[in-house]
Amino acid sequence: MENQPEEIVRLEQVTYSYNNIPAIKDINLSINRGDFLAIIGPNGSGKTTLLKIIVGLLKPNQGRVWLFGLPLDKFNQWFRLGYIQQKATYFDPVFPISVEEVVGSNLQAIRKEKALTRSQIKDRVHEALRIVSLEKEIKKLIKELSGGQQQRVLIARALATEPEILLLDEPTEGVDALTQERFYDLLGQLNQEKNLTIVLVTHDYVIVNKHVKQVACLNQKLIYHGKHSEFCQSTVVQELLKGGHHFVSHRH
Ligand code: ADP
Ligand code: MG
Repeated sequence: MENQPEEIVRLEQVTYSYNNIPAIKDINLSINRGDFLAIIGPNGSGKTTLLKIIVGLLKPNQGRVWLFGLPLDKFNQWFRLGYIQQKATYFDPVFPISVEEVVGSNLQAIRKEKALTRSQIKDRVHEALRIVSLEKEIKKLIKELSGGQQQRVLIARALATEPEILLLDEPTEGVDALTQERFYDLLGQLNQEKNLTIVLVTHDYVIVNKHVKQVACLNQKLIYHGKHSEFCQSTVVQELLKGGHHFVSHRH
């Protein structure tokens, strides 16, 4: 018998406006444990806003949100969500912060809540860097790393808190194609091997399709949400393609 999927994010009729202008409208969305969901849509379609609602940085004007089965006002276990914000890799080029410090920085924040000892923090940092294959760089300064390595440092920082869901906002902006592909392979591996739930926001649909299982297509409203395979054949995609959007699938 198949297990019932565990719903870890639920949005019902969520609307959010900036200065009375809606950025997202009437969003119904359900994300289950083990999903690898790509949220795609053109610039200004509300992708970042939607992600900020899910991670609690913005409160919806209308509608309701549940996280791990709890309504938003009862939920406080934020360490269960890992969030990498848009343009997160733009580290201050001058500030001399090390890889070790960056990866540990989130753990300091949750330390009180989960009562991590210093040696536990150290272990978590090492383990996170092992996962992203940057153990040898632990003592280096962030500015000494390549763009792709810096990106993996951010993943390590998010993983160090051992989240159950990882949400990434356009994480590969400004990174070359090969580095992007390796990065998506790493996400695919985390999803497969650790059953980590992944929500990836992007306007570039071309490269993610190897690992993505579900697709949500946003344009202020959610215009599509379903399996990746069905997305490619859907009339929504046909319409988007007619409209000049380049949602090309390389899978078929
Ligand atoms: P995306 O991430 O898909 O590019 P955003 O969620 O960033 O879209 O933005 C959706 C809409 O909300 C856009 O029209 C944008 O101009 C507007 N918006 C985003 N952030 C703000 C803000 N802080 N103040 C006012 N308007 C905003
Ligand atoms: Mg955005």
